[in-house]
Amino acid sequence: MPFSELQKELAERAAQGLLRARRTLNTPQSPHIVVDGKSYLAFCSNDYLGLANHPQLVAALQQGAAQWGVGAGAAHLVSGHFEPHHLLEQQLATFVGKPSALIFSTGYMANLGVVQALVGRGDTVFADKLNHASLNDAMTLSRAEVKRYRHGDMEQLARLLEQTKSGRKLIITDAVFSMDGDIAPLREMLALCEQHDAWLYVDDAHGFGVLGERGRGSLAHFGIESSRIIYMATLGKAAGVSGAFVAAEQVVIDTLINHANSYVYTTATPPALSSALLQSLQLIEEGDERRAHLKLLVARLRSGLTGLPWILMESDTAIQPLLIGDNQRALELSAALRERGIWVAAIRPPTVPQGTARLRITLSAEHGEADVGRLIGALHELAC
Ligand SMILES: *Cc1c(COP(=O)(O)O)cnc(C)c1O
Repeated sequence: MPFSELQKELAERAAQGLLRARRTLNTPQSPHIVVDGKSYLAFCSNDYLGLANHPQLVAALQQGAAQWGVGAGAAHLVSGHFEPHHLLEQQLATFVGKPSALIFSTGYMANLGVVQALVGRGDTVFADKLNHASLNDAMTLSRAEVKRYRHGDMEQLARLLEQTKSGRKLIITDAVFSMDGDIAPLREMLALCEQHDAWLYVDDAHGFGVLGERGRGSLAHFGIESSRIIYMATLGKAAGVSGAFVAAEQVVIDTLINHANSYVYTTATPPALSSALLQSLQLIEEGDERRAHLKLLVARLRSGLTGLPWILMESDTAIQPLLIGDNQRALELSAALRERGIWVAAIRPPTVPQGTARLRITLSAEHGEADVGRLIGALHELAC
């Protein structure tokens, strides 16, 4: 058997409670979904504002397809850059207060492209140990030297910057850490960038649309702005559609257009997706009520989950991880919730460090207070 070695590796993974498998949704994304034929109250999507199945976005996508067709047919630099793409870039740049913006097909590709285009051999990237996997892959791809610092440890970051005497310096970080829900100390990081003439690349996949005034994201949350910051956000989470964008100084965007391989050598996204995203951007701007409701749900969940044998991690965002520790125990709890009709994903290594398996509870503005109450009740039952 040519693949017996792979079979053995998978069997080992399964024995450690680490095998991954998919489940199939039979309904649109929402807190109330049908999965493999069974109904669930779900707490695992990143659809924080509940826009993934919003009727206005559905209509905008349909209208976009009617006007622009389905496929872009070419890369952006050939003949695949359409009016909706261009308009979306302009509006995104204005929204986040940057001179220019560039859309990518996915956040994963944006991260690969940006880091690879901006740094290379002889340069250094500084990265938080809990950064998203796509940022880690991006560093490897760039061939720059990699210096990783302990999660949120600004003293160690400062020391590493001091020790670096030559080449470009790029600090890269999740703004809201995807598996922890806490927020990077961006203000301190920016100060270090200024002190050491470094650039700051901020991946705001989980802050855009949710944090800051009008949902402008993590930079607005801290009230910081600097030409040194290269801002990235994804458009498949709070924005409810798909894709990502990078916003920065014009010279940075021009560099990406010329050097980011994951931008240059790929077919542009369907222009109709940009039509839907233009509508989404409007709903985000007008979404104070959704954000206020989400905040209320976070407070309700946090007060309801006190007194459990598991630690609810320190987080003010829609990502509320319950730290379990052991892989099997996390899987068992996730399965026990599922039996009660509640779906919360168990997150295990290597997505998170060894011994920190967790239930990653995520909230959405579409959840009701009663939904959160049901989850709280079920977890208290399971704790007995
Ligand atoms: C989801 C995510 C990405 C990847 O974005 P996609 O658009 O899903 O490819 C990148 N960074 C972070 C922090 C993420 O959570």
